[in-house]
Amino acid sequence: INFMVHKPKDVQVDIQPDKMILCCKNDSDDVIYNELYFYDKVLINDSRERVYDRTINVLLRKVKPDYSWPHLQKDPAKPSWISVDFDNWRDWEHEEDEGKEEYERYMDVKMSASNKGTAPDMGDLSDLVTSVVSCSPAELQREASGKKETVKGFNVKLLDTVLFPEGGGQPDDRGLIGGVPVLRVTRLGPDAVHFVASPVQVGQEVRVEVDWERRFDHMQQHSGQHLITAVAENLFGYRTTSWELGRQRSTIELDAPSVTPAQLRALEDSVNEKIRGHVPVNVQLLSVDDPAVEKVRSRGLPDDHAGPIRIIDIEGVDANMCCGTHVSNLSHLQVIKLLGTEKGKKNKTNLVFLVGNRVLRYAEKSYSTERSLVSLLKTGPDEHVEAVDKLQKSVKLLQKTNLSLLRDVAVLVAQNFKNNPQRGNFFSLHRKEGDNEFMSIIANEINTEETQLFLTVGEEKGPGLFLLAGPSGRVAEMGPRVLEMLQGKGAGKNGRFQGKANSLARRAEVEALLQQQHTAEGE
Ligand SMILES: [Zn+2]
Repeated sequence: INFMVHKPKDVQVDIQPDKMILCCKNDSDDVIYNELYFYDKVLINDSRERVYDRTINVLLRKVKPDYSWPHLQKDPAKPSWISVDFDNWRDWEHEEDEGKEEYERYMDVKMSASNKGTAPDMGDLSDLVTSVVSCSPAELQREASGKKETVKGFNVKLLDTVLFPEGGGQPDDRGLIGGVPVLRVTRLGPDAVHFVASPVQVGQEVRVEVDWERRFDHMQQHSGQHLITAVAENLFGYRTTSWELGRQRSTIELDAPSVTPAQLRALEDSVNEKIRGHVPVNVQLLSVDDPAVEKVRSRGLPDDHAGPIRIIDIEGVDANMCCGTHVSNLSHLQVIKLLGTEKGKKNKTNLVFLVGNRVLRYAEKSYSTERSLVSLLKTGPDEHVEAVDKLQKSVKLLQKTNLSLLRDVAVLVAQNFKNNPQRGNFFSLHRKEGDNEFMSIIANEINTEETQLFLTVGEEKGPGLFLLAGPSGRVAEMGPRVLEMLQGKGAGKNGRFQGKANSLARRAEVEALLQQQHTAEGE
């Protein structure tokens, strides 16, 4: 099992015969805790883990060596964070120690490679040896798990780079410069500026490596966008006015007030047909004054543009001026799924789409959610919406019934007190279930001109609500003291004092105090 954790710290792996626990921190100090119950027993003395820079590998040996497990976990529902790396699948079972050695070698190779194996070959562009031109202190503003933060680091310019800076709607690359992680790449005129956390020596020769998994994902989404844009314009004349490559899903803003479901279907069919046709995608460089430049789709050049014009040409489909990174053949897109449309800005429609591996991940996640819902709702996926709708309606009905019962209880409680000939004129009550209305009804039913009332609802020793009622002078005097004893917040007037209690732990004490006060005054 290969746990992908960036720069794992404080790694604790506990392998037991029927389960394993992994606990560690990642590079942003988030605590990761996983418990996996195995399908069958493992040999704990023959299992071990190795911690690497980007992963934690756990090698497990089954007790029954020739018995194939149908799945890893006892529970057949697969959590969304587990996937099988079929590209690197091998049966180590019959190879004993030789196999183990090979496994280790495979793991080492896998760790050192930035290429995950699923994406097409990048040729000689996945890494590059170049030299450092400049390195100066800098700051980076970024958002990490919803919080804005400033990272101190360095801006690095290189003689050449394989890392793509933001542009054309495509986010920037991640990667390494001489082993130092690159956190942001931006374009400054003709240069790429790489932000790194620790400095690199000017003049030094360094290897630049790209995070190929992230890059390939961006290539799929971006080339997919070119294709959808071109086909939407060819089929319906809908121009693309902007697009956004999101972390989960991407959108194309079409200059059309609406897109019908039939049009959506036709568009999806057509783009996928072109993918099946494995149409080549070529990059052409034209000089600015080339008459061919006029014929391509373009949203204009940036003011600081220098050098030739770059055209992305999908053979026979589209030619588009673009600086982004693209696949070399439409077949690399695998598949395009148009998830639907959303209302855009004035008279525009946003088209939500996924390309390639994102479609696979989406299907995997949806299926896992579906499985969980099947077991929770006890119905098949086709009945899920209906089942949830029913549940919500019945919860609403229960809440209504519950409230009306609570009101009836309040009236009965008050009547019961009034009908008691030995009642005296002090009444105190605590009830776990209840609300302000419940207490108010009791207070309204009992004549508080003569009776002192102390009511609480909520957890026995935890938070709750309280109401104090009675002759107004005494309530005004006692209210603040009650508030203090219940660590609460509240206010009162005209013989009522009510509020929230942080803790009802001293409720009995309050009751005793009130009763004592009451008796003393009564005499
Ligand atoms: Zn583009």
